[in-house]
Amino acid sequence: MKIDVMTLFPDMFRAVLNESILGRAQQKGLLDFSYWQIRDYTVNKQNQVDDYPFGGGQGMIMNAQPILDCFRAVCAARGQRPYLIYLSPQGKTLTQQRARELAQMPGFCLLCGHYEGIDQRVIDAAVDEEISIGDYVLTGGELPAMVLIDCVARMIPGVLSEEACFTDESHFHSLLEYPQYTRPAVYEGMAVPEVLLSGHHARIAAWRREQSLLCTLRKRPELLESAELTAADKAFLQRQKTEE
Ligand code: SAM
Repeated sequence: MKIDVMTLFPDMFRAVLNESILGRAQQKGLLDFSYWQIRDYTVNKQNQVDDYPFGGGQGMIMNAQPILDCFRAVCAARGQRPYLIYLSPQGKTLTQQRARELAQMPGFCLLCGHYEGIDQRVIDAAVDEEISIGDYVLTGGELPAMVLIDCVARMIPGVLSEEACFTDESHFHSLLEYPQYTRPAVYEGMAVPEVLLSGHHARIAAWRREQSLLCTLRKRPELLESAELTAADKAFLQRQKTEE
């Protein structure tokens, strides 16, 4: 997957994305990042990328010209116009489902705002989608872009060792993951649930399913509304609700 990122702070990305799983995915050729310094596309002597907001108000707004010229350069380099996502607190909140859809695209371009945001005309003229990483405001779009990249990239075939690493996880089927344990079997008097040591795969799978339902019921009950539940799942949840 080819991901272009337009930003004023490209070094922030290299520090994070060149490490660990995503670093290895780049070495394997599964991911290819290009960072575009928006400041390189200014046409003023000071290389200024922002200005005061019309109508007054706090802070500075990123100018339309360097962003749109930068995007034209991305399009020229790709030989086509990539899908453009602006990281914004005003966008739809990123979900596992949306990340899964983006993981099926051949690539996309991310735009990171900074200061008080960007000139609205960039959004009107070029942005295909605005994505937020949550209902709070950060200083810039760089961390949100890295969150989106990480979440999307791990669902690209080959990035994780097995697909089950993400299909079994929280949110993939609108359920939270079951509790996980590793060695030792007893730690400071706390024992791992016996079924996990039984080697009985069907019993382990059944226990995990129930624990997954239980975690979701206790921590994020609203997720159950969109989960695909069997008759046995529903009966289990009903019993739990009655007991609790
Ligand atoms: N003035 C803007 C508003 O009220 O909507 C907020 C601007 S914010 C301080 C600066 C930049 O950070 C934004 O342009 C955006 O790229 C990024 N940003 C901040 N919070 C974000 C969030 N929750 N999700 C995605 N991007 C965010």
